Amino acid sequence: MTERARIYLSSPHMSGLEQQYITEAFETNWVAPLGENVDAFESEVASYIGSSGGVALSSGTAALHLALILLGVEKDDIVFCSSFTFIASANPILYQKAIPVFIDSELNTWNMSPIALERAMKEYAAKGKKPKAVVIVNLYGQSADYNKLKNICDHYDVPIVEDAAESLGATYSERMSGTFGEFGIFSFNGNKIITTSGGGMLVSENQTALEKARFYATQARDRAPHYQHSQIGYNYRLSNILAGIGRGQMKVLDQRIQEKREIFSFYNRELSKIKGISFMPEYFEGKSTRWLTAMSIDPDFIECNIMDIVKHLDKLNIESRPLWKPMHMQPLFKDAVYYNHVEDLDISQKLFKYGICLPSDTNMSSENQQLCCKEIYKAIRKL
Ligand SMILES: *Cc1c(COP(=O)(O)O)cnc(C)c1O
Repeated sequence: MTERARIYLSSPHMSGLEQQYITEAFETNWVAPLGENVDAFESEVASYIGSSGGVALSSGTAALHLALILLGVEKDDIVFCSSFTFIASANPILYQKAIPVFIDSELNTWNMSPIALERAMKEYAAKGKKPKAVVIVNLYGQSADYNKLKNICDHYDVPIVEDAAESLGATYSERMSGTFGEFGIFSFNGNKIITTSGGGMLVSENQTALEKARFYATQARDRAPHYQHSQIGYNYRLSNILAGIGRGQMKVLDQRIQEKREIFSFYNRELSKIKGISFMPEYFEGKSTRWLTAMSIDPDFIECNIMDIVKHLDKLNIESRPLWKPMHMQPLFKDAVYYNHVEDLDISQKLFKYGICLPSDTNMSSENQQLCCKEIYKAIRKL
């Protein structure tokens, strides 16, 4: 038997156009965290999403950290944050020694529950407290329900940081993901829909804030002929080489979205026939990129558990993962306050227990996707 290569959840998928930008950077010796590629990548991403500007950074986490700094988040401040997410959404809250309060998801989008958010806002307001920011995450390529969430945040006058690390290219209410908050952030990590091998971007309509972000991201160096510093700074800028990869990737972003959506459609068609299987819904207000196809099983109809499927696929050298383990279930946040969707219904916990991300790699052949379907079926039926 010939060795089949591992099938991945989502691996880097180059367009072939990246090399040209990298070569230009080498030829002009701009092998540095500044240069033409950085500037062009920033304006290409900003113009794609219809935002007035962006700052290219070393990671999405760095972008989140700077967003919190720019919103003045400090020690002992309260920051509301989606519970159902990757830890990177919440870690920067701890970098600032602020206090995260986690908010559950809703079933329509799997993202932040407006009902839980409103309850949290109300209770904190009653205690005379107000969060400094709300970090709202768009999971697996789908936007959260910003019409409702933004109304609540506006009512209580709390700024939104939109964690769009997983949703570049998605839309909501005919607007691009990343443009709904005071700040939006993207990630170009290796597993995201496009990659720079590692990188991120902070976007905003607030040019003054973006200028400050550039300042903090380059060690907060004061304007002086010598090296002078009055504030804490960071080394968070993106290299001109990596920005070149990003420019080549931006050229195929729409194509990748199309491919991701086709991967989803195939799973949906093949596996929805099985009673007890359902997929992350696509909310009517928006269009998801389907960065990762996320599926859930109903224990009333399906006996196996999620880890049985993950293990079965792994034995065949196929990568899959349970959905994100909610932050309020993490040992790191065991003392954090949490607002579930409604009393006695913890949606993110349930999704974690019964949900799985399927291989959604645009490098995957259709034969291999068929194989994945067949093996998922076998795992579920315990064949
Ligand atoms: C990937 C990701 C991040 C962080 O991005 P990095 O570039 O890896 O730092 C933040 N939030 C979410 C939801 C992510 O999936």
